[in-house]
Amino acid sequence: MSGRHLLQIPGPTNVPDRILQAISRPTIDHRGPEFRDMAADILVRLPLIFKATGPVVTFPASGTGAWEAALVNCLSPNDRVLIYETGHFASTWCRLAQKLSLQTTVLPTDWRHGVDAEVLAETLEQDKAGSIKAVCLVHNETSTGVCSDIQKARAAMNQTGHPALLMVDTISSLASIDYCHDDWGVDVTIAGSQKGLMLPPGLSFNAVSDKALHAARSAAMPKAYWDWQDVIDANQSQLFPYTPATNLLFGLREAIAMLLEEGLDQVFARHARLAEATRCAVKAWGLELLCLDPDRYSNSLTAVMMPQGHDADALRNVILDRCDMSLGNGLGQLAGKVFRIGHLGDFNELMLASALSGIEMGLTLAEVPHKPGGAQAAMDYLSDTSPRP
Ligand SMILES: *Cc1c(COP(=O)(O)O)cnc(C)c1O
Repeated sequence: MSGRHLLQIPGPTNVPDRILQAISRPTIDHRGPEFRDMAADILVRLPLIFKATGPVVTFPASGTGAWEAALVNCLSPNDRVLIYETGHFASTWCRLAQKLSLQTTVLPTDWRHGVDAEVLAETLEQDKAGSIKAVCLVHNETSTGVCSDIQKARAAMNQTGHPALLMVDTISSLASIDYCHDDWGVDVTIAGSQKGLMLPPGLSFNAVSDKALHAARSAAMPKAYWDWQDVIDANQSQLFPYTPATNLLFGLREAIAMLLEEGLDQVFARHARLAEATRCAVKAWGLELLCLDPDRYSNSLTAVMMPQGHDADALRNVILDRCDMSLGNGLGQLAGKVFRIGHLGDFNELMLASALSGIEMGLTLAEVPHKPGGAQAAMDYLSDTSPRP
């Protein structure tokens, strides 16, 4: 097929040319002066993206590695963690915790709403013995397109006075949707390279609070590769305890520069605007959003329900074959029932217009009942609103 493939899954996202070029340089000595200059730059500026003042530990791993790192650094065998099951990613994190032999308390949802701070507070109130050592929340549920209110959840935790650590997965929100590690009182923030950070997969991160570092000193779960302290110690001299993903770090330095040049507030406003345009299209098609709470719509992706009797994967296959565009599939219990439109990372108005046009063609080709004019509705919204916040 001629022309460029449209990668409209909610991660990995499009990697911009500036980052591709940065990554394509020859690999350098990861203990030499040039590497240490780059590491110094990253160590100073990466925390700005998390709005954190403490350390951000970088691992050569997918996001899943950073989930595991958060748990094994802070907890001891048989500790209990509370997981709010807002969707597929929360439930996958829960399974990971269980494989590590942690005890889990799971708060279920219908996968169409976010974290309910009151339910969270009630559950912590009941835990008089303080057996819950960590609360694990997914900020932006990539399987559902629901973005939970972390500030509200933290406030509810504070009200109960419960000492559990707060761990938040921001893999599909960091650098796309506003997030404040320090101000929101998060103890461990988990992130990955391949979504809002516009990098290929392969790096993941833990931003760590003082309270989490303190907990890590007495945490007894076995850990070696994931040990924060080894990374933090090596970082003191701009090094890593094992061979880092040097070329991805070239890309990371470029990604941070791009985000700070645009300005984080502009980045968030751009995502909000493109997300709202996407929702205008979905509504014009007469299709239903999976997220039922308009205050919690995700600005990095939109999950769209298929009409009864129509298979989301059949639609996605038609769109891939005819339009060379990849859309996200339904995950877990949502398999075949939803498709997901990624609108995060290195993304702009006409990329969105192409994506929505391709979906509208696909809806017709796959004979999915819908009203025409979704792409036009999105363009009208974009024409009628200003791109500047
Ligand atoms: C993508 C994603 C993950 C999984 O990350 P991997 O890099 O595939 O390990 C976890 N949580 C959320 C919210 C995600 O969007």
